[in-house]
Amino acid sequence: MIGKCSSCFMKVNGVPNAKTCREPVREGLVVERQRGWVPPAAGVEELGSVEFREVETDLLVVGGGPAGLSAALKASECGLDVVVVDEHFKIGGQLLKQTHKFFGSVELFGGMRGFQIAEEYARRIGSSERIRVIPRSAVYGVFRGGLVGVVGENSHYVIKPRAVVGSTGASERYLDFVNNDLPGVIGAGGVQTIMNEYGVKPGDSALVVGSGNVGLIVAYQLLQAGVAVRAVVEILPEIGGWFVHAAKVRRYGVPILTQHTIKAVYGNGKVEEAEVVAVDENFNPIPGSEKKFRVDLVLLAVGLEPDTRLFSQCGAVMKWSPDLGGLVPLRTPDLETSVRNLYVAGDASGIEEATTAIMEGWVAALSAVSKLADKSRASRAEEELEKINKFLWEEYRASPVLARARRGKQSVTVSREEMEKIRAEHPPHVSFG
Ligand SMILES: Cc1cc2nc3c(=O)[nH]c(=O)nc-3n(C[C@H](O)[C@H](O)[C@H](O)COP(=O)(O)OP(=O)(O)OC[C@H]3O[C@@H](n4cnc5c(N)ncnc54)[C@H](O)[C@@H]3O)c2cc1C
Repeated sequence: MIGKCSSCFMKVNGVPNAKTCREPVREGLVVERQRGWVPPAAGVEELGSVEFREVETDLLVVGGGPAGLSAALKASECGLDVVVVDEHFKIGGQLLKQTHKFFGSVELFGGMRGFQIAEEYARRIGSSERIRVIPRSAVYGVFRGGLVGVVGENSHYVIKPRAVVGSTGASERYLDFVNNDLPGVIGAGGVQTIMNEYGVKPGDSALVVGSGNVGLIVAYQLLQAGVAVRAVVEILPEIGGWFVHAAKVRRYGVPILTQHTIKAVYGNGKVEEAEVVAVDENFNPIPGSEKKFRVDLVLLAVGLEPDTRLFSQCGAVMKWSPDLGGLVPLRTPDLETSVRNLYVAGDASGIEEATTAIMEGWVAALSAVSKLADKSRASRAEEELEKINKFLWEEYRASPVLARARRGKQSVTVSREEMEKIRAEHPPHVSFG
């Protein structure tokens, strides 16, 4: 339910494989179940009046979450023409579903709620003459000559950018357990989509799996929406998220069961019951410790994984980082990957949080400006980039809360000189510029 998987594929108006989590409801919509290979309905080919457009731009931003939008604004303020492509019908990425207030300075939207930040970005971007947004469209591949393919509902673009910021975000992790495909088992981001973005109560009673900040925040939001949260289970011996978030959930009398995991869910066509089990110090289930909860919703908040398929497809050199949630591109301190003029920012660069995503967006944009703009703009961009990087690394990431992400990001950052050697050894399939 965050546009990242195939779980909600249905046939919409005869067209198969539509991600229904991103399909706006409208009059006369025909939505059908699909199974296996599904051909388009007869007559759908006639929709074939797909428009084909070629677009040239200075900077292409793939993904309109906080990282991509901050990059787009910064680059446009420095005189670059920008195209932003996003799969969703609204820009903002994960911010659209965040109802809690952000910390930090005014420049970093401190005191505003996530969805308000998304609205503010939409306002600023809407009034910029240098930024063009292509919503409801996906970047599906990059081809020789640095041509980027984008497909929308009734349009197909080939974009030729001088530089690209990849800010494609992350997908949610899933867990193996009995009947994990029953309707009612859902990711935390999915629940936020239904509840906070579309305004629908997602169930009556819930079990939350995972006590990191996402699990705790969403558990609290469920309680506020009138859903009875029966328990939060956490496989580790300690609660993963901040004390303040755990305290809010506990005030409602919700138990947080550490050293417990989910074993199975049961139900006739949908979740009716969930079974949890205690685990020993090696995470093995302890027989006889099972407990059952009558719930219709099992929410999985067990971490995120960077969405870096675009970078792999371009041939960027990647590195596995458990601290960052998975496979991410190697990058210079300016966030340029081993593919020249391809930058990475936000969750795609390694799971962190929205404020650092905004700052990485600035760094990536200023990096592109320092190469593409005229001399005076380029040198101003370099100065600003240095200041932001200093603040990001020496102050913001000095917080113990970000220690893991900081360690991870250090481990995938190489000097510009080192990157030149890596490029010589691993030439990418594509180039921009
Ligand atoms: C459930 C959940 C709860 C969270 N809670 C908090 C929190 O409380 N506080 C906090 O600071 N952070 C929180 N985060 C993290 C924060 O939201 C992210 O760190 C931040 O949104 C990352 O920004 P981003 O721009 O990198 O990615 P995203 O916000 O995920 O945006 C990526 C965008 O890219 C688009 N996209 C992806 N691939 C393509 C493609 N091929 N073509 C076109 N478009 C594409 C997507 O549609 C999406 O809009 C949460 C994240 C999740 C998932």
